[in-house]
Amino acid sequence: MNILKDFLLQLTFMVMPIFIYFTFITERVKSDQKRNIIMSFLWGISIVLCMSFPVTFGQNARLELRIIPLLFGSLYGGFWSSICLSTLIILYRLSDGISVGFYNTVLVLLGSLPVFLLFQKKFAMSKKDKRVKIAVGLSFYYCLIGLTILGILRGFTIEYLKVPIIHLIFVVVVTWFFTRLTETIREIHQLRVEMQNSEKLRVISELTSVFAHEIRNPMQVTRGFLQLLNEPDLPDQKKEYIQLSIEELDRANEIINDFLSFGKPTLNNNERVNAGYQLHRVINILQSYSMNHNVEIKSDILDYCWIYANPQKLKQTLINILKNAIESMPNGGIVWISCSTTDEDYVKITIKDEGIGMTKKQIERLGSPFYSLKESGTGLGMMVSYQIVRSFKGKIQVNSQKGQGTEFIILLPQIT
Ligand code: ADP
Ligand code: MG
Repeated sequence: MNILKDFLLQLTFMVMPIFIYFTFITERVKSDQKRNIIMSFLWGISIVLCMSFPVTFGQNARLELRIIPLLFGSLYGGFWSSICLSTLIILYRLSDGISVGFYNTVLVLLGSLPVFLLFQKKFAMSKKDKRVKIAVGLSFYYCLIGLTILGILRGFTIEYLKVPIIHLIFVVVVTWFFTRLTETIREIHQLRVEMQNSEKLRVISELTSVFAHEIRNPMQVTRGFLQLLNEPDLPDQKKEYIQLSIEELDRANEIINDFLSFGKPTLNNNERVNAGYQLHRVINILQSYSMNHNVEIKSDILDYCWIYANPQKLKQTLINILKNAIESMPNGGIVWISCSTTDEDYVKITIKDEGIGMTKKQIERLGSPFYSLKESGTGLGMMVSYQIVRSFKGKIQVNSQKGQGTEFIILLPQIT
């Protein structure tokens, strides 16, 4: 009975960090790095508890699950987390005195840590099922190394290996269970975030359809009268005021356009469109805008790039991306635009700037609603663009380096 109690206690040490993390930490702590540190800390506690209250049976036989917090810490937390957790294990073992067990611990860690870290990147990029497989595989590998080293140190007799074999089976099953548990909770959590986002979007689209037109009409009237006021014999300062007012009205109009195109139901009025021709038009539209920003646009556009798309929406996407490229260079610079076809039957449009660039995190957030780093940005342009390109069955790739520049690659299925 006592063994069962001990086993259950070990399982509790695994459950605790997972539930504390997902209940109290994920929602409240926004920074990934901080979350990582807290998670590693929780796994650290779990390791200490596991090692302090092992399952004991027979004379010297001890079973414990410290491998699981170590494995999870390494796979979810990365390099530093795994180094800290292994150091913790070694120090704890050292406090028991140097014995065969201690050497065993160190050797097993040396043999398994590099492999954990090797698989960490793959793990981070994989989907749920593959993650479970990787975690189970790694825990099996860890136990196998433990078994081999113990065999070498003490001899391969069934008497000595009985316990490690039970350990191996137990660890593999528990790893499988807890990886699934963690992944399922993560999935539920992500779903919740996505639902909150889509709820936000639903509200925007409802509001826009009601208000946008009501606001636009008086704005158009005001703009018209401002233009009428702008007579040649006005003093320069007043002319400037009028110009500023018109520009601000245009900006407001642009924001409404962004909102509107988002709120509109997506009609499938796609047609055969020449992407190259549309690019030329977009460059013309933004010519004066780029000149105002001291930006030169250089283009290399193939003429026959036919795709199946809605020309208005395609134009809007290109305008959004090109405008961002221009805005990313406060001191001016060059934007390179090219349009060509690829061997995989895609039309490839690239828009490349030498502006402020983005970090990896910023690239990841690109396209989520209201994400903007600009003082007067709406954070809707990229979201709309991603949505449009997706609706054309295309994809957007972003290469960017902070301080160096950004390259947007739009791939759209080519038609003949
Ligand atoms: P807005 O332009 O209104 O800020 P967008 O959705 O168009 O909203 O863009 C979101 C954010 O993405 C911008 O605020 C900017 O920080 C970043 N971004 C987009 N394109 C680029 C680019 N070419 N270079 C650097 N940052 C960019
Ligand atoms: Mg923008």
